[in-house]
Amino acid sequence: MFGWKHTKADRRGEVVDHDTDGEARERAARRDEAVRGAVEQGLLGPDAAVVGLLDVTGIRESAAALRAAFDAVVAPGTPVLHAFAVKASPLVPVLRLLHEEGIGAEVASPGELALVRAAGLPPENTVLDSPAKTPAELREALALGVAVNADNPQELDRLDALVASAATRSPLGIRVNPQIGGGTIGATSTATETSKFGVALRDEGAREWVVQAYADRPWLTRLHAHTGSQGIPLALLARGVAETYALAEEINARIGRRQIDTLDIGGGLPVNFESEATAPTYAQYARTLKAEVPGLFDGRYGLVTEFGRSLLAKHGTVVARVEYAKSSGGRRIAVTHAGVQVATRTVYAPGAWPLRIAAYDAKGRPKPGPEVTQDVAGPACFSGDLLAEGRSMPPLEQGDYAAALDTGAYYFAHHYAYNSLTRPGVYGFAPDAAGGVAFATVREPQTVAEVVAESGGAHTSALTTLGAPGSP
Ligand SMILES: *Cc1c(COP(=O)(O)O)cnc(C)c1O
Repeated sequence: MFGWKHTKADRRGEVVDHDTDGEARERAARRDEAVRGAVEQGLLGPDAAVVGLLDVTGIRESAAALRAAFDAVVAPGTPVLHAFAVKASPLVPVLRLLHEEGIGAEVASPGELALVRAAGLPPENTVLDSPAKTPAELREALALGVAVNADNPQELDRLDALVASAATRSPLGIRVNPQIGGGTIGATSTATETSKFGVALRDEGAREWVVQAYADRPWLTRLHAHTGSQGIPLALLARGVAETYALAEEINARIGRRQIDTLDIGGGLPVNFESEATAPTYAQYARTLKAEVPGLFDGRYGLVTEFGRSLLAKHGTVVARVEYAKSSGGRRIAVTHAGVQVATRTVYAPGAWPLRIAAYDAKGRPKPGPEVTQDVAGPACFSGDLLAEGRSMPPLEQGDYAAALDTGAYYFAHHYAYNSLTRPGVYGFAPDAAGGVAFATVREPQTVAEVVAESGGAHTSALTTLGAPGSP
């Protein structure tokens, strides 16, 4: 019935509540080692003024913690697929690493599906959710056997036609919006009254329509909701899951059989950007769900989760060289090479997305205090291009490095091409056998020649010759 292998009892299953303080300290120590190693090994320097670094050990730890957290609460034998939300870190080697750790993928575009396939993930470990799937995308997903959650009635019409015309192994479901309200960040709240995602359950007639949709289609076996991302408190996330579970129970009761066999509870576990600690933890969330929605884990439903930010954020660091240190109107300003191109959300919405900044000296060693108030600016040509404003920290001097912490998800992998700034290289790191740190290239730095090519370099005269006298 289920296409994926259910997660085995975790190797470290007994340590669901492992020492998160100790883990955080070790993570910070690994990061310091990596910054120093990156400078020593020349990945970072005058000619490579900004890089993204990924902590392979930390990513493995988070994947293991996620598996262990759910293994600890589900009935034995419950099929569980943890599908990483690819949009949080769309990098092929990251997807492969997570695959090796027993994690599948949630995709929302043809590009993301292609990344997952390039990483070698099997279709049965992949889920397609997106609000704007084309007929071609749906056809491809069904041909491959990728699970699909229909966003709306028009999409369900398209699935009807496809299911009628060809056999598919794809598990199919509907995404609902329980309309339970948003969190502290509007842009990442998906269960608001007027959210663009899913079937808005509390709208007039909508619940009845959903029940009938399942009654009419025995092949609809899943139900999906993703209540939101950063800024949603655990209790609200749990309410979204509770509403989804209650709907599945109602549908199965009214149809008179267990047609819905799998609940896709989405992702959205918030990340702590204020300190090193991992909080909340997957274990806390799983226990909250067990308390609030006991039936969810009793073995009658298979589960799909779709965590993104919480798996990767803590394991990525943007490190940028301080090109100049200056002062303006009495304010110290470190002008670095990391700004809006690698920290777009933080620069445009600093109140909602503050980042911790760590100071390193020219050799990549942590800088001691005393602290001074300074701005940490990016390279882009607008005055709001600041990683941090009025921040108290050890003074950054020319040639030092500023590190934007917790940027492993939705930051440096999400380059924004302002000022034609090149995409930085991304490197994974792990301890080597000799007690040092080893690096592997995850993504090459983009070259200036590539920027030209991607900016119409092959079409220089396209506009001047268009409609010119004598042209066709
Ligand atoms: C973005 C998204 C996720 C992941 O959200 P995180 O906050 O990164 O965990 C999961 N499911 C869907 C449908 C999404 O759009």
